[in-house]
Amino acid sequence: MFTADHIDALLRERGLVLTQQRRRIVGHLSGNMGHPTAAQIHSSVAPGVTLSTVYNTLALLKDLGVLTELPQPGGESRYDPNTAPHHHLLCSACGTLHDVAAEDVQVTLLSDAQVEQVQVSFLGRCPEGCPA
Ligand SMILES: [Zn+2]
Ligand SMILES: [Zn+2]
Repeated sequence: MFTADHIDALLRERGLVLTQQRRRIVGHLSGNMGHPTAAQIHSSVAPGVTLSTVYNTLALLKDLGVLTELPQPGGESRYDPNTAPHHHLLCSACGTLHDVAAEDVQVTLLSDAQVEQVQVSFLGRCPEGCPA
């Protein structure tokens, strides 16, 4: 669960604290379905939080297993606080990254690799038209 309380507890186990700056970043990401980039997160929590603090905090949250980094070919990584298994559809027109339910996608691997995680990226258009 991506909540300040849960993350606070995870940090404490490691002898770390949820500082005021980290708390602002966590607060911005909690329940955020927009898959923001680090720069977008930074502009939402600035002033008072530097871009390097944003990057450090994102790395820490990834390390804690509560945040997924979604590398974008030819672009900045986007970040997803929803770590439940799901896939993504990137709109090639407006850049919106949509969640696609895991049950809506059937993935079959024709080899005997030991798969631990599946992430499928679709490139297409917003299902209901791009937001204005
Ligand atoms: Zn997502
Ligand atoms: Zn779109």
